[in-house]
Amino acid sequence: MTDDALSRQTEHRSPAPATQDTIVALSTPMGRSGLGVVRLSGPRALAITCQLFRPKAAPSLTPHRATFGTLHEPQTDELVDEAVTTFFPGPHSYTGEDVVEISCHGSPVILRRVVELALELGARLARPGEFTLRAFLNGRLDLTQAEAVRDLIEAQTIYQTKVALRQLHGSLSQMLQPLKQSLIHAIVHLETAVEFADEDVTPESRPSLIGRLDDLLTHLSEIEKTFRTGRIVREGIQLAIVGKPNVGKSSLFNRLLAKDRAIVTEIPGTTRDALSEAASIDGIPVNLIDTAGIRHTTDRVESIGITRSRQAIADADLVLVVLDASQPLDEDDRTVLHDTAKQPRLIVANKNDLPLRWKTADLEAWGVREPPISVSALTGDGLDALKQEILKVVLGGRVHPEDVILTNVRHHRLIVEAMEAVRRAVRALSEGYSEEVALVGLHDALRALGEITGEVTVEDILDQIFSTFCIGK
Ligand code: GDP
Repeated sequence: MTDDALSRQTEHRSPAPATQDTIVALSTPMGRSGLGVVRLSGPRALAITCQLFRPKAAPSLTPHRATFGTLHEPQTDELVDEAVTTFFPGPHSYTGEDVVEISCHGSPVILRRVVELALELGARLARPGEFTLRAFLNGRLDLTQAEAVRDLIEAQTIYQTKVALRQLHGSLSQMLQPLKQSLIHAIVHLETAVEFADEDVTPESRPSLIGRLDDLLTHLSEIEKTFRTGRIVREGIQLAIVGKPNVGKSSLFNRLLAKDRAIVTEIPGTTRDALSEAASIDGIPVNLIDTAGIRHTTDRVESIGITRSRQAIADADLVLVVLDASQPLDEDDRTVLHDTAKQPRLIVANKNDLPLRWKTADLEAWGVREPPISVSALTGDGLDALKQEILKVVLGGRVHPEDVILTNVRHHRLIVEAMEAVRRAVRALSEGYSEEVALVGLHDALRALGEITGEVTVEDILDQIFSTFCIGK
């Protein structure tokens, strides 16, 4: 295969033929609000709008200009609403087609009527994500960018929006580009070796090619490693709070949530069930799990709670082991420390507002090497430091939304596939197999990377992705 043929294979897919249908949808949530926006996209978007909308001061709609006017029933000329309408001619619009946005009063009755009128005039109701799908099919966005649009809409914290925005600006695609180039380079060399086997052409030697592929694997594995952080950015940290009864777990839980959720009492063993609640620390979502105190008990209900606590500990990204600094350490503390020893954990010495009854050295005597973080759930002392420590441990220092982070399961799966395929190729080369065998692996890797950005797609992948969008996007 020639260099040219290879780059053709990986270049951005040619835009799909212009979609003939004109689609319409309400782009804002259905409900009473100040404004609601109806959006149309497709070849008849402008014609349909012109039958509904009459500009007040201007003779017609000027591209990219918001125009004030009135909406009318086409049959009877009756007034439907006042509206501000903007026309974005294709190909420089969101979808790449002619797009019209009609901003009316946010009355569900009016909005429904405007959509109905557009349907009567020949538009079709858009499917979920269809505007963005068209943007993708028309080459306005690659697949990672389209997915970023969905992530942006679904973001629950500002941090998540920043990560999504970076992806929307193409950060992941840009990072993958040199890796694809390097794969193409390796493929070209191997293809040359195959095609000119009888001639005296010396393509790049195997060891040097293997070195190049090893570098590629290192890069891919760096990207792959960011997925753990990505999952946390998306789904949040699973943070379990454990400790014997009455050390202040519920109080700490409430402090971290900044609202009263768990019941705080002075009777040991009152938190019997594992409560879970979402909070966020510096924009990173945190699922806090307040567990039943772990201790030896004969109470049946309490022991069910304790079994659940152990499960929560096993599933957590991080465990906060809470000790009471105002009471001497005892066997129950030792059990908790022992049970969590193999987990990523932070040790918290709570109630530092009271006289302290033990020292770090006492923990060290039990073989606990981590220095405890001193806090008071009552006064709030030490909580900021605790939060920062939580982020540091869980995100491994990668807390800047500017870093490219893999947040998407689909992207992660394809990166792993690409890595496995490159490894197969390296093995084939180092074990003396023919170039053809190595080429199969490299082509598989290239296909996997291409699938991330959507250069290589199959219909059902698109269906899967865009069906998770909301209607009107
Ligand atoms: P849990 O059983 O571990 O969930 O403990 P709780 O959060 O229910 O707290 C037990 C008792 O300790 C309650 O009376 C809390 O008010 C008290 N407590 C919790 N944290 C602190 C603290 O930092 N300082 C002081 N002085 N009391 C606290």
